[in-house]
Amino acid sequence: MKLICIGRNYAAHIDELDNERPTEPVVFMKPDSAVLPKEQDFYIPEFSEDIHYEVEVLVKIKKVGKHISEKFAHKYYDEVGLGIDFTARDLQSKLKAKGLPWEKAKGFDGAAVVGKWIDKNKYENIDNLRFSLLKNGEIVQNGHTSLMLWKIDELIAYVSTYFTLKKGDIIFTGTPAGVGRVVANDYLEGTIEEERIFTINIK
Ligand code: MG
Repeated sequence: MKLICIGRNYAAHIDELDNERPTEPVVFMKPDSAVLPKEQDFYIPEFSEDIHYEVEVLVKIKKVGKHISEKFAHKYYDEVGLGIDFTARDLQSKLKAKGLPWEKAKGFDGAAVVGKWIDKNKYENIDNLRFSLLKNGEIVQNGHTSLMLWKIDELIAYVSTYFTLKKGDIIFTGTPAGVGRVVANDYLEGTIEEERIFTINIK
């Protein structure tokens, strides 16, 4: 199982990190060992002083596919979810400045929170979903899938031209604006359309 992550997919988040707007999706991977086991707390790793949350809509691939056209992409997933792309921002900034790969900053153990899965048919249109992240009960990120630069089906078509998608693979579709730091004792809660999808204690 692989985790395929999209960066810079929301204009307001690109601006807040002072990044350039990409002309095609930014893609990176996390290893399967990055998935935070269910019900487990997130422990801030000792190598970072600046762990950021990034709440993202997730898509679970249900069958193998390569060179999937956008028109048929919807046939490759039945479930959507919500998770966090935890990022060691200090480490990522150093690596970015040197033009080096981000993996250590994005793929460390526990860096991928995967919440519960929801049948996509529960929603009228997955390109029209509201989602939020609450930190200690206050909303810190508000997102809407209509604001993605590349929509879910476009992302599936794009990434499948490079990587064969397999059953169980998860796509992290990028974060909206409002990313920020977590510290020990924070409590995070992610929602789609007001429904709670995950909760995480930070240690
Ligand atoms: Mg992200």
